Amino acid sequence: MNSNEIDIHKELKKYFGFSQFKGLQEQVINSLLNKQNTFVIMPTGGGKSLCYQLPALIQEGTAIVVSPLIALMKNQVDAIRSLSSENGVAHVLNSSLTKTEIVQVKKDITSGLTKLLYVAPESLTKEEYVAFLQTVTISFVAIDEAHCISEWGHDFRPEYRNLKSIIKQLGDVPIIGLTATATPKVQEDILKNLDMTDATTFKASFNRPNLYYEVRTKTKNIESDIIRFIKQHKGKSGIIYCLSRKKVEAIAEVLQVNGISAVPYHAGLDAKTRARHQDMFLMEDVDVVVATIAFGMGIDKPDVRFVIHHDIPKSLESYYQETGRAGRDGGEGHCLAYYSYKDVEKLEKFMSGKPVAEQEIGFALLQEVVAYAETSMSRRRFLLHYFGEEFDDVNGEGADMDDNVRNPKTKVEAIDEVVKL
Ligand code: ADP
Ligand code: MG
Repeated sequence: MNSNEIDIHKELKKYFGFSQFKGLQEQVINSLLNKQNTFVIMPTGGGKSLCYQLPALIQEGTAIVVSPLIALMKNQVDAIRSLSSENGVAHVLNSSLTKTEIVQVKKDITSGLTKLLYVAPESLTKEEYVAFLQTVTISFVAIDEAHCISEWGHDFRPEYRNLKSIIKQLGDVPIIGLTATATPKVQEDILKNLDMTDATTFKASFNRPNLYYEVRTKTKNIESDIIRFIKQHKGKSGIIYCLSRKKVEAIAEVLQVNGISAVPYHAGLDAKTRARHQDMFLMEDVDVVVATIAFGMGIDKPDVRFVIHHDIPKSLESYYQETGRAGRDGGEGHCLAYYSYKDVEKLEKFMSGKPVAEQEIGFALLQEVVAYAETSMSRRRFLLHYFGEEFDDVNGEGADMDDNVRNPKTKVEAIDEVVKL
């Protein structure tokens, strides 16, 4: 319960129409209502936004929400406005606003109408905005996608580093940080950077019991192996990730020639083609999309039945996010990765042009991927351990859903394989 004795179930129903909280939402909201610094780690789709939206809507003052992408902010503002009769309930503050718009935003905040103010981190550093925000009531500050603060995360944003010093200027307001990045290293960075090692932390499980994890040694027969795999999953939707645009094009073509309906997707295609190919996949005009990692952010197709990594990913974090696009509906999701040490060397070579600090991080992340590919233990246990979660590989949910558990390698076989590489 929160110290304000607010019936948050009633408010949940009133604002969002939901009759139950999802996962840890209730505890998170109570922590924030009790003015505690709060840290939330939940997988994508876990319902993180509501953890700050609901407390913002029911408290006095304006909550500041820091988010890295304008598109994400706009989506959320539209969603909140649709819950309320007042447009002013949520605003975005950014450099694209006209002077008149800024006057309106400030008026709505001052009058107490605005409950959520979304800002990009670079806008928050503007002195005139800070000066204004010092004059109004702030309920709390929410930092969404908080992993952007860490160089160990998959989306480092230097501007996130300045947040704490700005928040300090706004007075003593609680902070809530939220992320779907579960590695202990990133979490530590977030807490340290936001100077909130005292925060109450809520972490949901990252286990996806319906995903089957498999690693195959990459040989020169990889293309026929992939074709065979897809034909065994006839009519099912799947994604194939490749490292380079060239490979994406080549694989898409090979699949087409072999009678599999597939389209390529990468940043080298023009926006129109990309949008068309994405729609074709979503509308099931094609079964397979062959893509670079440019594909997937915000793609919410519930029945993706397999995700194949033609090349190894650059970190286990990315691997988890990319494979996480399979089986959103709770049904089968086969995650197959092809592994060869040559690919590791290729990735290392790519990185060698980068600044030393970045290289070191890149190599360390890659070593974890290698260890995952070469392990003979439960892959689920390995992945979850990487995220700081202990998984019971005998009784845990989904315990038998990987190749190592289904077909344990004898020691000799395992050694053989290492020598072969
Ligand atoms: P995240 O930011 O953790 O990836 P979102 O905040 O985008 O997740 O929420 C994912 C989905 O879950 C949204 O469609 C949202 O409406 C839904 N959702 C959140 N909380 C609840 C709830 N208590 N009951 C039902 N659906 C919920
Ligand atoms: Mg989110």
